[in-house]
Amino acid sequence: MVVEMHAGLASDGGSKLKMLLTFVDALPTGNEEGIYYAIDLGGTNFRALRVEVGSGSVVTSRKVELPIPEELTKGTIEELFNFVAIALKDFVEREDGKDEKRALGFTFSFPVRQTSVSSGSLIRWTKGFSIENAQVGKDVAQCLNEALAMSGLNVRVTALVNDTVGTLALGHYHDEDTVAAVIIGAGTNACYIERTDAIIKCQGLLTNSGGMVVNMEWGNFWSSHLPRTPYDISLDDETQNRNDQGFEKMISGIYLGEIARLVLHRMALESDVFGDAADNLSTPFTLSTPLLAAIREDDSPDLSEVRRILQEHLKIPDTPLKTRRLVVKVCDIVTRRAARLAAAGIVGILKKLGRDGSGVASSGRTRGQPRRSVVAIEGGLYQGYPVFREYLDEALVEILGEEVARTVALRVTEDGSGVGAALLAAVYSSNR
Ligand code: ADP
Ligand code: MG
Repeated sequence: MVVEMHAGLASDGGSKLKMLLTFVDALPTGNEEGIYYAIDLGGTNFRALRVEVGSGSVVTSRKVELPIPEELTKGTIEELFNFVAIALKDFVEREDGKDEKRALGFTFSFPVRQTSVSSGSLIRWTKGFSIENAQVGKDVAQCLNEALAMSGLNVRVTALVNDTVGTLALGHYHDEDTVAAVIIGAGTNACYIERTDAIIKCQGLLTNSGGMVVNMEWGNFWSSHLPRTPYDISLDDETQNRNDQGFEKMISGIYLGEIARLVLHRMALESDVFGDAADNLSTPFTLSTPLLAAIREDDSPDLSEVRRILQEHLKIPDTPLKTRRLVVKVCDIVTRRAARLAAAGIVGILKKLGRDGSGVASSGRTRGQPRRSVVAIEGGLYQGYPVFREYLDEALVEILGEEVARTVALRVTEDGSGVGAALLAAVYSSNR
């Protein structure tokens, strides 16, 4: 991971890790004031938030949350952004009335090539979105501003950010030792604060802080050191973004249930553990990740929840206890691998920052004096699945050792991806 981070910082296209510039060179400090809006688009749900900040780092927010209609993930960007604009308009009018002028933080959780903190173009869609290719390259903030203007709303984008960057902003607002943020939800990604002189591909980059947030797009990480199973290959073949997002496909919520289903399907074909229900396991994506989690966390003596899920969701009736145990084991292995890979990624970032306790850091500190590091973390998979968190923590301790692991805090933020974007809208509408 560290080698690839260096390569991605050295040149565009130098690594599968894009290491994207965000132009976020200042994080919220607690001195922000006012009312800001944010929208969070890029996964299962769409969120609109109203965030009020002021008087000593108090943040209050209200939000609406809507599922993104499946057909809008496959249509045109105008249709998608009109849906967003109308939802935001309803929300703003309810909260503040019609004509209020407000700054908007736009969390758009796809790889974006930023040209400033408030503009950038899409590099490609991920996470099952497949909106017409022609839209790749267009300024997404401008597209949204057009839709907002058309809806008659007096709100414009001041900060276009990735969900990881929003999460980092909120984390940093609450705790200045926050150096990185990780998302483990539908997809997975991470960002961290890098020194500008380490961003070699952008010579002469100057910021007041001497640093800039880098969006790693770690979901696309790949390395020949990562063992890939036949199930990973089958899963990749089923997706619209083949050969991309390899790390994400081993870790995140869209995919874990499907990996387990592929394993169970092969077992059904090669043995008689599932009786003659093999065919019922042949449909892609019938085992969601929340179901995989429920299977793994079933602690009833007869695994009755596993029985129910197999019956109702996979149409496999009457499994013996022994088979249900096997299903639990499969879900456990898939979960554990994912959590351990995510932990390894986090250690990669800490290592790059010289905060993993392994010798002389770039700052000149030596072994034995690791600083406290906080990693802001968010996402439905991480937050909703305790066993995943346990495995992740366990791996952190295993890789870092207990002493160093004690200096690393994973801190869950609540709606950081959205609230943080609103805070960044505040930073970038008042300071410049
Ligand atoms: P996004 O913001 O990218 O839409 P979220 O952070 O809301 O993603 O996370 C949604 C994902 O989290 C879903 O894809 C689902 O697979 C996973 N998830 C949600 N709840 C649980 C749970 N209880 N156990 C395991 N995975 C979950
Ligand atoms: Mg999200």
